[in-house]
Amino acid sequence: MKILVINAGSSSLKYQLMDPDTREVFAKGLCERIGIDGRLTHKVPAKDAKYEFDIPMPTHAEAIQAVLDALLSAEHGVIKSASEIDAVGHRVVHGGEKFASSVRITGDVMAALEECIPLAPLHNPANITGIQACEKVMPGVPMVGVFDTAFHQTMPAKSYIYALPYEFYENDKVRRYGFHGTSHRYVSARAAAMLGKPIEELKIITCHLGNGSSVAAVDGGRSVDTSMGFTPLAGVPMGTRSGDLDAGILEYLMGKHGYDMKEMMNILNKKSGVLGISGVSSDFRDIENAANDGNQRAALALETFQYSVKKLVGAYAAAMGGVDAIVFTAGVGENDAVTRMNIASGLEFMGVKMDAEANNVRGKETVISAADSKVKVLLIPTDEELMIAQDTAAIVKG
Ligand code: ADP
Repeated sequence: MKILVINAGSSSLKYQLMDPDTREVFAKGLCERIGIDGRLTHKVPAKDAKYEFDIPMPTHAEAIQAVLDALLSAEHGVIKSASEIDAVGHRVVHGGEKFASSVRITGDVMAALEECIPLAPLHNPANITGIQACEKVMPGVPMVGVFDTAFHQTMPAKSYIYALPYEFYENDKVRRYGFHGTSHRYVSARAAAMLGKPIEELKIITCHLGNGSSVAAVDGGRSVDTSMGFTPLAGVPMGTRSGDLDAGILEYLMGKHGYDMKEMMNILNKKSGVLGISGVSSDFRDIENAANDGNQRAALALETFQYSVKKLVGAYAAAMGGVDAIVFTAGVGENDAVTRMNIASGLEFMGVKMDAEANNVRGKETVISAADSKVKVLLIPTDEELMIAQDTAAIVKG
């Protein structure tokens, strides 16, 4: 089967054409500057080839057409006919409480996605536009929506409710939704496979640490808690996002500096996190270099990040009444041995014992805890595209 995976943003669109069974990626790439001018980067892994084109992309429809043309091209294409694409899987950021799993896209589903726009005003409109563009360019090809929030819909009410007047939940849908669900689902399933145990018998803490970061408690294969909340601003400090903070700070700073809500939110989303503390960068590599050169604030940013993740590991072990495995994934989790070590060390009291040598790796599935560690610590590169392709194939096959 050949599945086209689409991740549409407001001015960009990522794609992969892959076989979900063999996991072969035939082609992948990125459309950028949609609505501005248009640029396509197209890669064919089998040839180790990369192509770049300037193509006008006034809307997402031209971007999807450019992707299709690239896939079909005699020179750098990978298929002979568009009919070889069996289905399209779309990443959708917010499924609200309506979607607890991936779904075949129908008119009713599109209406439900529109209803979720107020919950994700920046992301869902772009995802919807991407779906509509595919419908226009590839009419009749089955499509599936895979939601970032869906995996966390199994959280019990005590995990997702905010201690606000209950009508804000009932009337305004204010609750913890959680994000990165496709990644947490993928790595927890891989963890069970690596440990050779049914996921139903495992308590797993998954740490998706990238530019955006979230931690999840996965008990028996079901998400029971996660650190992101109503929006992806919550939880641990991130590249530029503050993570959790005392809401009273908003009133204090807005009053003192005369910020309006938009300015305040821009500070919390774009100027905070490890960038805010360090003043150096949102990129963990830059911050580590600065810390190694003696920059105290850079060191503090890293320490604060690691400490926040460590506290959640403890909290989620308590929430689940134990933990069998801790998983590290995403840009920082997959590549940064020092951060992994600092998070997982000092947890010997709960049965976590790292193996420094085993931990000295990047980007491959491996056990990084000591052979006699009661809790296994795993490094698992995430693969959200594969998960989307597999869900899409399963739903289309019925
Ligand atoms: P996104 O949330 O945008 O998907 P990623 O999961 O790609 O982010 O993670 C990006 C982050 O990973 C960046 O902050 C980058 O610094 C970090 N990163 C990548 N490689 C390394 C490395 N070798 N050491 C430390 N951090 C790394």
